[in-house]
Amino acid sequence: MRTLLTASMLISAIGFSACVADNTPRDPDLYVHVREPDPPAPPKLPNPEPAPATAPAPNSQAFAHVVDLGQGVSMLIGQGGNLGLLTGNDGIFLIDDQYATNAAANLAKIEEVAKGKPKYLINTHWHGDHAGGNAEFATAGATVFASENARKRLTGEVPSTNRQGGVTPASPKPAWPVVTFVSGVDFHLNGQTIRAIPAPRPAHTDGDVMIYFVEADILHMGDTYMKDRYPFVDTGSGGTQLGFIEALAKAIEITGSSTKIIPGHGELATEADLQAALDMHRGARAAVEALVKRGKSLEETIAAKPLAQWNARFGGAGSFITDDAYATVIYNELKK
Ligand SMILES: [Zn+2]
Repeated sequence: MRTLLTASMLISAIGFSACVADNTPRDPDLYVHVREPDPPAPPKLPNPEPAPATAPAPNSQAFAHVVDLGQGVSMLIGQGGNLGLLTGNDGIFLIDDQYATNAAANLAKIEEVAKGKPKYLINTHWHGDHAGGNAEFATAGATVFASENARKRLTGEVPSTNRQGGVTPASPKPAWPVVTFVSGVDFHLNGQTIRAIPAPRPAHTDGDVMIYFVEADILHMGDTYMKDRYPFVDTGSGGTQLGFIEALAKAIEITGSSTKIIPGHGELATEADLQAALDMHRGARAAVEALVKRGKSLEETIAAKPLAQWNARFGGAGSFITDDAYATVIYNELKK
């Protein structure tokens, strides 16, 4: 897929080629609810009160927090992945758009915060908690950019497999990115050089992009980094554990000690946080590899708890991938 860019778009393309895709870190199947024993039946009331109709629909709310990072750049935190926003007279630039279900609310709130609608929108990857709002934003006038592989996942040209082995349906056409790239793309607006940098190899998915605001020194990692959590290696979208190691190593080449890091999920981070995650990824791989080399089965490897030393930092409350799940992905990758 090649798309011509006009000079008026203020964008210089480094390289183009064709494009990928919602396994959300919040998939409902990840949550196992333990069924409690039935309580004794309550006495029947003559006029039971109706259930309150105030509970919001899932993932329907606009972002709740705006973190001002300077030079017109903000991190927006809410339901789904973290958004990156650049405002200014040249046009509003947005990184990711969370869910389809909260896109209208997010758009309205961005209009309030930024005094306009996004002109440029870039997806860090295809997942529905990051790119699910594409159709809403595109219909409102945004030009949607993504890696070639992210587009292929969204269009269904390369189907993604979910954890149950089913195929994720393609997104409706209005959600499809219209500009794609392989080697990267630079945007020039509002005094910023904004560099979309593909991950060196498939990591979270096979279409991951990191986005660096050069002058402001702010890096959005997409889901190649979720602060202090074990990673979600979406193997059904081509993801690999080795890719996380390479993506973080690449990110650390770009960053310095004062760089502000926007994780795909979680609070604002620093280069030191990225380094801790890279050390964990490398250490976890080495720990599992040592067991593979000793001929251990997957069951024996999990039972040995090779990632135990990282659980305090990366296996906390915000994590939805357990150490056992991460060890399993690494084991399977090493056995390929
Ligand atoms: Zn994701």
